[in-house]
Amino acid sequence: MRCFSCGRWSWSVICLACRSMLFVPTIATRQLGELDVISFFAYTTLAPLLHTKHTPEGYRIYRALGRMVLRPFILEFVEVDEGRVYLIGIDEVVKGGYAHVALLTRAMKTPATPPLHATLLAQNPLTYAGKSLAYRMENPRDFSYHGKRGIDVILVDDIITTGSTLREAHQLLTQEGVNVLFALTLADANR
Ligand SMILES: [Zn+2]
Repeated sequence: MRCFSCGRWSWSVICLACRSMLFVPTIATRQLGELDVISFFAYTTLAPLLHTKHTPEGYRIYRALGRMVLRPFILEFVEVDEGRVYLIGIDEVVKGGYAHVALLTRAMKTPATPPLHATLLAQNPLTYAGKSLAYRMENPRDFSYHGKRGIDVILVDDIITTGSTLREAHQLLTQEGVNVLFALTLADANR
């Protein structure tokens, strides 16, 4: 196949040269009230890749990003942390043939970090892309949670923009007796 980024022939959807030159993650943390949100890239760096979501090539790209970026982080985390921590992706619903956030949580699956797929779903199916903070505040995603209670959790999403989605998800999970340790996102629009 061809590298999605540079177009050269490659064994993978993002070639080794692009992995080592362009897509070098740097970890940053944004605080949303009590919740720390860790991101690995500025949104502009990843934008062409993230725009493939819900398209056929987006399946391979999201899977590759999960393996390249999130999996190394979680393997280090598992070495330090003892005990089980569940992974909860934001709104893992199938669109365009796959749930893009579920590709990320699946890439992070280890015996100590099992994903709870599709347990945190938005009941309000609107999309926030390109919408203002005011719009997002007036139109909450209205999450429902069907997973375990009394557990430690890492929240996962692809992008943080205003933070209203993660804030709402964190609030609901806390009310449901779930202890959210932190959130992981690939890219932060504020960086
Ligand atoms: Zn390349």
